Amino acid sequence: MATCVVTGGAGFLGSHLCEELLARGNRVICVDNLETGTLANIAHLRDPRFVHLNIDIIEPYFIEEPIDCVYHFASPASPIDYLRIPLQTLKVGSYGTHHTLGLAKRHRARFLTASTSEVYGDPQVHPQPESYWGHVNPIGPRGVYDEAKRFGEALTMAYHRQQGVDTAIVRIFNTYGPRMRARDGRAIPTFLRQALQDQPITVFGDGSQTRSFCYVEDLVRGIVALAESGHHDPVNIGNPNEFTLLELAQTVIEVSGSSSPIVFEELPVDDPQVRQPDITRARELLGWEPTVELREGLRRTIAQAGRDALTGTR
Ligand code: NAD
Repeated sequence: MATCVVTGGAGFLGSHLCEELLARGNRVICVDNLETGTLANIAHLRDPRFVHLNIDIIEPYFIEEPIDCVYHFASPASPIDYLRIPLQTLKVGSYGTHHTLGLAKRHRARFLTASTSEVYGDPQVHPQPESYWGHVNPIGPRGVYDEAKRFGEALTMAYHRQQGVDTAIVRIFNTYGPRMRARDGRAIPTFLRQALQDQPITVFGDGSQTRSFCYVEDLVRGIVALAESGHHDPVNIGNPNEFTLLELAQTVIEVSGSSSPIVFEELPVDDPQVRQPDITRARELLGWEPTVELREGLRRTIAQAGRDALTGTR
């Protein structure tokens, strides 16, 4: 039985990852200070092989028992969170990543860090392959997240090259599914909350900006495949089917049977115009590709999360 550490394991993606790792027969140590996560996300993981440690990884931390694999997911991830706590976002991406890489080094464990499509910023290349270096505004409000993730990637490669740590980097594109927070500010939870209450759906700008949405089960499968591979270079994991935000709003209305009107609001600063992963590398190296399309993923999200959770009334 392998032992896996998941930092950020009580968050949206981390909790799904903990669940999958347990299902595959691993022991799982979830390290999470509940800054943006919640115990409710892991309450169902009642298993003697699962433990939650309430640790802030910005400070040095140690785990005594042997560890085989470290999945580093702790970081504020939604704009509402990283704009609220910009300094913690920079610290968790720098000190937090440093301490977690140190943990992996001491235990000679495989280390996988959750990076993001935001390292591409407002991309000038479309779709985005891993070889594209990005177009990021370091001093804009979003810079705290984008640059923390870019620094995290640089630190990960330095630990690999200089210290011999067995590292992997996954660049995650917008992912959705049950356990998203109703008010985390991201497009799908916001649109679902509004649609399920028949309230106006707020689309930023004219809704022509695009995003590509990956269902959480597809993402987790790709992440585990990358961790189990021997690859060190970044790998995009996301669904290449691209939608405008207006199309997304219309699809959410259709799937939820809502009567919500669509209204338009001001575009946030540095909001990327396009976002679409080039997943050639994931296909070739991991044999991975997504299988759940948007309508199906939205249906599953509504069925599994339930109306109360999605509207934030529970
Ligand atoms: P989330 O906010 O639900 O989860 C993040 C978790 O990290 C939370 O449980 C939070 O409590 C924990 N955390 C934050 N700071 C911490 C600290 N200092 N010490 C210990 N724990 C801390 O976000 P998510 O959407 O699940 O994202 C998880 C990871 O995936 C993040 O690193 C994020 O950047 C990355 N990512 C997510 C997406 C997406 O679409 N959800 C896209 C790209 C990248």
